[in-house]
Amino acid sequence: MKNGFSIKKISGRRVWDSRGRPTVETEVLLNNGGFGRSIAPAGASTGSGEAVDLRDNNQACGGYGVNNAVANVNGEISETLLGLNAFDQKHIDQCLINLDGTENRGRIGGNAMIATSMAVAHAAADGDKKPLWNYLRDKETHLSKKIVLPLPEIQIFGGGAHAEGHLDLQDFMVMPYGASTFSEAMEWTAEIYLAAGSIMDAQGKRFGVADEGGYWPVFKSNEEAIETLVKSIELAGFSTEKQVGISLDIAATQLFSNEGYFLKSEKRLLNNDQWFDLMLNWLKAYPIVAIEDPFVEDDFTRHAKLLAVINTGVESGKNNSIELVGDDLLVTNIKNIAVAKEVNACNTLLCKPNQAGTLTEARLAFEGAKENGWNTIVSARSGETEDVTIVHLSLGWGIEQLKVGSFSRSERMAKWNEMIRLEDRLGSDAVYAGGKPLGRNETS
Ligand code: PEP
Ligand code: MG
Repeated sequence: MKNGFSIKKISGRRVWDSRGRPTVETEVLLNNGGFGRSIAPAGASTGSGEAVDLRDNNQACGGYGVNNAVANVNGEISETLLGLNAFDQKHIDQCLINLDGTENRGRIGGNAMIATSMAVAHAAADGDKKPLWNYLRDKETHLSKKIVLPLPEIQIFGGGAHAEGHLDLQDFMVMPYGASTFSEAMEWTAEIYLAAGSIMDAQGKRFGVADEGGYWPVFKSNEEAIETLVKSIELAGFSTEKQVGISLDIAATQLFSNEGYFLKSEKRLLNNDQWFDLMLNWLKAYPIVAIEDPFVEDDFTRHAKLLAVINTGVESGKNNSIELVGDDLLVTNIKNIAVAKEVNACNTLLCKPNQAGTLTEARLAFEGAKENGWNTIVSARSGETEDVTIVHLSLGWGIEQLKVGSFSRSERMAKWNEMIRLEDRLGSDAVYAGGKPLGRNETS
């Protein structure tokens, strides 16, 4: 263990996220001068098993206050971590877990924990005189020499809990897998984003901006949104078969009740079997390369049934090339990953560090998914800030996909732009994770 990395000072403060809600920022100073800062993001469509934020639950800030969580950083957390070695992330995170002592992190707060856990990593990297991605990567022994720049998953239309239910599905995204560099993937996205805007404006269907910065349109159905996304890709001059795929985050838990799945925008109520058929029909009809949370979060059986169909490639017509992504299904939790593996419920992990509560637990989930042979995506939340930690996690840990929301608003662009900078600096030491996320050899 390296010397000089002992924690000299920890301080927390209240800052504000992209929804104008308060959130926790932690700063960490080491004896060797290393300094790190990080800010907790926040979800809106949260899975029931994820680490919870500690909110003040009083009249102020609509009940979203974080004064107690900030006080915990300045009090208990600081007292516990002062003098510990920041280089030993596992030990730091275990101390946070023990200090909290609850399953859901509700005592000291998942927001206080993740901001601190990430700030410690930033401080250690700074003390080691390395960018965070490089510090994390140097701790790995199994990664190949080439650094992989992740395949981006970018929201064009937003709906669900991020747009007050105007469109039922949460994310209508593109994946520019046929680009040859990360920068080119960004350029293609810009063209598609522009094309989608022009189609909506021509039809008078632009309503506003959803939580993650994507267009918030007034379409008459979810299918109209998917079809407009396909048209936007084509209008921008790209092939939906060979260059740019569609990814949908259904966030189905938000649509589910005892009565079944309700599509509010279409006033359609579907029972479990009808919903399963709808998901399958969309996979057949549209150039979808990834589908996230297609069923309510505890329905491992139907996830497994859909994956079995995808894997045979017969009914889906896609020959094992679709990612079935677990977000609310897995909540970045190694126990849920084990259950999902047991019944074959998905083939891709959405890794959100604040769902886990600490970096070490997010890392454990990532490793568990890799051991299962799954794909992995590191993801931002709907409530975000200028914090770019996840960009560095993707390079440092070797996570080959990145989901941060739309192609507008600075809390999103900060992340895309950080990756562009890293691509620029790394030059030929890095390669873009092109090709379809599954069945890569079919393309490019
Ligand atoms: C998601 O569901 O993938 C997402 C990013 O939204 P939220 O942060 O609201 O969970
Ligand atoms: Mg999701």
